[in-house]
Amino acid sequence: MPKVKNWQLNREMDYPYEGAYPDRQFAFVFNINRCIACQTCTMACKSTWTFSKGQEQMWWANVETKPYGGYPQFWDAKILKLLEEANPGKQNWKKRNGKYTFEGKTIFEAIKRRLLPNSSRVLGYLPEDHEWNSPNIYEDNPKGKLGKVNEIDKEGVELPTHKTWFFYLARICNHCSYPACLAACPREAIYKRPEDGIVLIDQEKCRGYRKCVEACPYKKAMYRGNTRITEKCVGCYPRVEGTDPESDGTPMETRCMAACIGQMRMQGLVKMNNDGTWTKDRSNPLYYMVHVEKVALPLYSQFGTSPNGYYIPPRWVPRKYLKQMFGPGVDQAIENYMNPSRELLAVLQLFRRSNRIIFSYEFEKGPKIYEGNIRDKPVNIYNDTVIAYGKDGTELFRTTIEEPIHERSKKYANSI
Ligand code: SF4
Ligand code: SF4
Repeated sequence: MPKVKNWQLNREMDYPYEGAYPDRQFAFVFNINRCIACQTCTMACKSTWTFSKGQEQMWWANVETKPYGGYPQFWDAKILKLLEEANPGKQNWKKRNGKYTFEGKTIFEAIKRRLLPNSSRVLGYLPEDHEWNSPNIYEDNPKGKLGKVNEIDKEGVELPTHKTWFFYLARICNHCSYPACLAACPREAIYKRPEDGIVLIDQEKCRGYRKCVEACPYKKAMYRGNTRITEKCVGCYPRVEGTDPESDGTPMETRCMAACIGQMRMQGLVKMNNDGTWTKDRSNPLYYMVHVEKVALPLYSQFGTSPNGYYIPPRWVPRKYLKQMFGPGVDQAIENYMNPSRELLAVLQLFRRSNRIIFSYEFEKGPKIYEGNIRDKPVNIYNDTVIAYGKDGTELFRTTIEEPIHERSKKYANSI
């Protein structure tokens, strides 16, 4: 099996194909601290792509309540259990020379330990129909005392970790750099677009074997019973490539991103090197958040698919749970998010000011507007400006740290 570089694991790993990387890669950052589970994103996707007969149980974009929620049910607990069974007690990260390396087995490596037909290139499982039935099951169910269901912890709500907690995990296909769906397809019906890394299923070639449904650890490939073909999130590619009539030739963010009420989503197209790493591009806001400030972390990178979805972890959730989900960088990410640099605070203002994809930004310093203490630490806040640029370098918008106040005139006091 070929070896590929997986920078998220800080090591090489096995993958059934040689690495092949797009010029630019579809990627996104979701700030969990801001998600209110309004499901506007979910419905924006549903009404665009999955409103037809046979797609009733398909939610290419969904938001689930952790720890109990999942679509399909318990998808992450199930794949973690399979990995643990394949490599008991060794699914760990180790720090060497200041960098963490994943020393456990990915889904591509763990499969070799099991007696399965040759067609199984990836460790996975096929959910049963009932597991797809209730995308919102356990919505808003908190986790309380260990081992006690539905009991709220009386110790309550102290930071950094609430004793009773839950959080919302918004999910779409990660358009992985090493897609498990693509690796598993015996008909080679799945491909990754060289221009943007969006992963698509060729509807003509697919015969509905569901090997991709079994293999995708995030369970984002979904079988459609009435056509007997599998479908998945298409990354709203007409918008991303600028051919959607609304986009006027300019790359636009996907429907789920553009609709986000909580302003927790940002999408980008990051430049790639020919070994699967990101090209240094400090002025790209995604590169800045992932590689410079390290506030956004990949979802379950230990699976090995090199997902291109990154999350700013929630501040109030037990760290052990977060580290399992987002890896060992969680402490640093939360620390940097809670005590942001001037530039990070400015970049966080870029979310959802426009539905055009931001290719680069500029940061301009402004005057001090606040001096005080937050959580016993001295803070100074400045009214800095951040300017967003599109693909061809034109300015998309600019925004300041301090939101301007507009006073409604008496004439319109009673109107919207
Ligand atoms: S998230 Fe799943 S469906 Fe999407 S590219 Fe990765 S493996 Fe394929
Ligand atoms: S629209 Fe935004 S805030 Fe609402 S559920 Fe989706 S991700 Fe969360």
